[in-house]
Amino acid sequence: MSTPVLSVVSVAKRFGRTTAVHDVSFEIQPGELVGLVGPNGAGKSTTIKMLSGQLLPDVGRIVVGGIDVAADPNGARAKIGYVPEEPRLYEYLTAREMVAFVAEIRGGGDVDAALDLAGLGADADRLIREYSQGMRRRTALAAALVARPPLLVLDEALNGLDPPSAARVTRALQVACAGGQAVLLSTHVLDTLERIADRVVMLGAGRVIADAPASDLDRLRGLFDPH
Ligand code: ADP
Repeated sequence: MSTPVLSVVSVAKRFGRTTAVHDVSFEIQPGELVGLVGPNGAGKSTTIKMLSGQLLPDVGRIVVGGIDVAADPNGARAKIGYVPEEPRLYEYLTAREMVAFVAEIRGGGDVDAALDLAGLGADADRLIREYSQGMRRRTALAAALVARPPLLVLDEALNGLDPPSAARVTRALQVACAGGQAVLLSTHVLDTLERIADRVVMLGAGRVIADAPASDLDRLRGLFDPH
């Protein structure tokens, strides 16, 4: 097997008396599209915040693109294209301007290709403040894609999207994986993953309760919602 793009090794995080993440370990290989799933409160956001350097784990180790997040948070961050659930965008820039801005900060990238992949070609010169929610999410995706980081991390990125936007995002992620990037997509909706993910890492109460091929999703549903 090749070197993983992401290694999460025995990571734990507490908030006061709540242990949000207990002892979480998983890896992602180049070209893989992995779903991070679990009900609300399972620890998905806390895990994503730790691997993107927004929170430090209490124990454990996270390595992104060969860089230890604790030792070099900025270096590790540059290996990740991150799409938060509610992206903060520059309302008075166009998508093209914002994506070009990110490309400049990240050391270059093909702005037109990223906008096209996110399905924004025709609207890229309108102000972001005029965009629908789906277009805003796709602008954040184009910004995450532009410098071709080895790992894309999307937090609940498909939820609430209109079907054409969801299809666009899905297609963009598949193209990224075909080109050797890896994707970690968190969601509390399993259905979206059935068609697109290679593998599913399932969290429950802060622990990994399954790490299995997406073809096992039917079996995993029982773990997700035993009632
Ligand atoms: P998910 O993203 O799967 O919904 P979270 O990672 O947001 O789960 O939350 C996991 C647990 O940690 C929950 O019990 C949540 O209430 C708790 N938690 C998350 N962030 C904080 C925080 N900043 N302070 C206190 N508790 C938190």
